Amino acid sequence: MSAWLDPVRAALDSAASPVTFWFRDDDAGWDDGALDRLLDRCHQHSVHLDLAVIPVELRDDLAVSLRDHAATGLVHLHQHGFCHRNHETEGRTCEFGPSRGRAQQQQDLADGQALLRGHLGAFVEPVFTPPWNRCTGDTAAALVELGIRVLSRDSTATPFGHPSLAEAPITVDWFASRKGERLSRAEVGERIAAQAADGSSPVGVMLHHAVTDTDELALIDQLMALIDAHPMAVSSSIVRLPASGLSAAADVDASSSAG
Ligand SMILES: [Zn+2]
Repeated sequence: MSAWLDPVRAALDSAASPVTFWFRDDDAGWDDGALDRLLDRCHQHSVHLDLAVIPVELRDDLAVSLRDHAATGLVHLHQHGFCHRNHETEGRTCEFGPSRGRAQQQQDLADGQALLRGHLGAFVEPVFTPPWNRCTGDTAAALVELGIRVLSRDSTATPFGHPSLAEAPITVDWFASRKGERLSRAEVGERIAAQAADGSSPVGVMLHHAVTDTDELALIDQLMALIDAHPMAVSSSIVRLPASGLSAAADVDASSSAG
């Protein structure tokens, strides 16, 4: 049934110290029904989840629901871009990309923070996930000025090394593909297991509820159940990650990250 998780189970069984897992789900504001179904799984298994919320997609009814979820202490809310729109005319899809300067980016970020705070108040955590996991050094500088303390992209992104901005890269994309083809569930299980066995840093899993169907949700449920049940698995949220999961990459000259 959950044979795909056997390697993860084995890695946890032989772990010398507890393995920290965290989940980031993107695009709150899209498909509230699918979001509710995913959050229900988190509560069922007492697993923390960091929810990246698109500011302009936040409506009153969704805000009420998100505040209720966050009040449980398991669901953590942070900013996901501003309107989740691609501004680049060439190159890779990006909302906070090279065609947008520091001033434009900072305005979008500030407007997004204001929208989030207006709806969610103190539940907004000082974390930022850029749409498509991409942004520039200007974004990092603007985030610092706005009081954001953690940037979350994926593990292939080169850290900006800003001394005031920690980074929490996701390490497993649930919907990852290779050469245009989705990884099988067994391959996803092996990736998670390899990171759990390595033990040097937390395992960060990126989810997208809006493209998660019933079958996919059942698999996520199996992973969350294992994390809940296994004595060597620990669930965390981004701001509570141990130092090994939050790199400030201070060895990179911060002044070179602009531009
Ligand atoms: Zn997104």
